[in-house]
Amino acid sequence: METRAVTTERETAYRKQLKNRKRIVVKVGSSSLLHPETGRLDYHRIDLLARELSDLKNQGKDIILVSSGATAAGREVLRSALGGLREHPVHGSRPITEKQACAAVGQARLMMIYQKFFDDYNQTTAQVLMTRDTVADVLSKYNLTNTFSELLAMDVIPIVNENDSVATIEFSVGDNDNLSAIVAALLGADLLILLSDIDGLYTDDPRRSADAEFIPFVEKMDGEILSMGKGSTGSSSGTGGMSTKLHAGLIATRSGCDMVIVNASRLHVLHEIIEGERRGTLFCADREEDFDLRDYIE
Ligand code: GLU
Repeated sequence: METRAVTTERETAYRKQLKNRKRIVVKVGSSSLLHPETGRLDYHRIDLLARELSDLKNQGKDIILVSSGATAAGREVLRSALGGLREHPVHGSRPITEKQACAAVGQARLMMIYQKFFDDYNQTTAQVLMTRDTVADVLSKYNLTNTFSELLAMDVIPIVNENDSVATIEFSVGDNDNLSAIVAALLGADLLILLSDIDGLYTDDPRRSADAEFIPFVEKMDGEILSMGKGSTGSSSGTGGMSTKLHAGLIATRSGCDMVIVNASRLHVLHEIIEGERRGTLFCADREEDFDLRDYIE
């Protein structure tokens, strides 16, 4: 039986080489972009995120940002048209068409804000919207991959979201955790970072169980690890709980990409992860010989 010290030593060595990762996908959820008290956009945090990512880009890394927040941003803009009703920005009980309209308005607003901040740090961004269908269909998947490759070759930072105005339940990935893992697999990324409102993986839901223990390092995503997502620690504004994050972890690690789930409360944590510091839960790449993305999206 291996001691904890041996595992910690292996973790330290593994984390040290994260600084060599070249292509990094960062996913940020709605709850990390909004003021919790008002549900309105937190410009300070969006600015900090743009600064952190711009600096990683300047270190020579390819950066792809997967950002939620379209529906929430649209709801903020359309607040008066919606009768000033305040409710959950993503899961509310309002009609789906209303959410789609909010996402259409909000996505444009979100990109405007991102462009403004990234521009301050001399970076060019691009909007890429996709659905599950985009990767399920061979031709559109090919086209999407080519677009990404071209953008990265031009040193652009693609900002990705689900195309919420067409992606109703039948065609959608449904949550940006899985979407970001799909993007990571598609682009052969070597690191995926899920910025979240939770610290990482616990043996149980820490909001419900006082005995829940934090797990900093996962070398293999076996049945025991996957069962830890069952209680699903949900966030207040986004769609992804722990079980969706673990499913995203399966896609990422099996495609050959490391994944970190980390709390977004301090955005400098992005640099700290790359510098090998012990932050969040690290899931090690565990490439599946005959990995096929389609096996994970049907
Ligand atoms: N695509 C949705 C949005 O931008 C969010 C999905 C998610 O949070 O996972 O509002």
